[in-house]
Amino acid sequence: MLTVPAYGASDPSQPLHPLTVERRDLGPHDVLIEIGFSGICHSDIHTVRGEWGARDWPITPGHEIAGTVSAVGAEVSRFSVGDRVGVGCMVGSCGTCVACTAGQEQYCKDVVFTYGSTDADGTTTQGGYSTHVVVTESFVLAIPDSLPLDAAAPLLCAGITSYSPLRHWKVGAGSRVAVVGFGGLGHMGVKLASAMGADVTVLSQSLAKKDDSLAFGAQAHHATADPATFAALDSSFDLILNTVSAPLDMDAYLGLLALDGTLVSVGLPPRPISVSAFSLVGARRSWAGSNIGGIAETQEMLDFCGEHGVRPEIELVGAADINTAYERVLASDVRYRFVIDAATFV
Ligand code: NAP
Ligand code: ZN
Repeated sequence: MLTVPAYGASDPSQPLHPLTVERRDLGPHDVLIEIGFSGICHSDIHTVRGEWGARDWPITPGHEIAGTVSAVGAEVSRFSVGDRVGVGCMVGSCGTCVACTAGQEQYCKDVVFTYGSTDADGTTTQGGYSTHVVVTESFVLAIPDSLPLDAAAPLLCAGITSYSPLRHWKVGAGSRVAVVGFGGLGHMGVKLASAMGADVTVLSQSLAKKDDSLAFGAQAHHATADPATFAALDSSFDLILNTVSAPLDMDAYLGLLALDGTLVSVGLPPRPISVSAFSLVGARRSWAGSNIGGIAETQEMLDFCGEHGVRPEIELVGAADINTAYERVLASDVRYRFVIDAATFV
């Protein structure tokens, strides 16, 4: 057992603080990773604030992990000491169900999330706001040499969560894509859809980030606080990627879909959202959801980003800045992903 420095929450009403977590002894298929960088996802905030329900406390969040292999188990074949690697939202699954055999481990009923899940040995998994982690090699990803480790970290959740639905709904040249919410996931959605050749529109609360939208590859940026936006863009998109962490007026956004268009929600507001059937039937529209992406697809996404020069925009912070960073994410004051330098976990 390895006891390592970390940062976590002991209860949903308190700020995060320094603590330690225990990492299991290296099994034959395990990889010990020295964490270099850990991204801050809005899901970390929902979780540690208790918005998604009861948890085992304390929780060390973090599922956007980039680092270097520092030891490997006897049977590990895909990684060697010194390799640059990443870990995302999952560290295990059953391996035999329909989802797992289809490479869609994220939809396995027994998926083991990187933090807050019961692991095979009965312990609760603890995430990447920490210096080291032990993960079975089949859930470890290779980071292409062209991607710096700090910028690679957010790809492990924000990147794959945006990439997977864009691929599933076959976005390519000529696709009319709108991205709702221009934060961590949203800015990756813009960069990825643009790299796939789509015509991308950002739907943000205001025009404050318009210059960035256009710089990251969008053709247009509209303010959703302005009701004229909804009239002007009526029935104009094939795919809408909703990355917003709060409930929206879904009927208004569904009205922006063209015939046969799909609105895919990846944002996970804690409260239910209502939808009128009239918003769907009039133009055979679909409202769908999507959860991160499978392991093979995550590797495909990392390689795609390496080849196409797609990188998240990051602001590097230290462990002592995590609580302030959370407040800034909640205030939509993130440009566009906070990444923690793991050297500051001491
Ligand atoms: P984020 O960086 O906070 O981005 C969310 C964006 O939504 C904000 O930047 C803001 O963009 C917009 N927004 C926030 N509050 C709003 C409100 N009240 N009304 C309208 N727009 C609002 O968060 P993130 O890390 O990208 O995560 C976004 C959501 O996706 C979270 O709910 C997270 O839990 C979820 N998530 C889901 C998956 C999955 O697999 N499905 C994976 C990761 C994260 P503007 O300022 O541009 O409007
Ligand atoms: Zn996440």
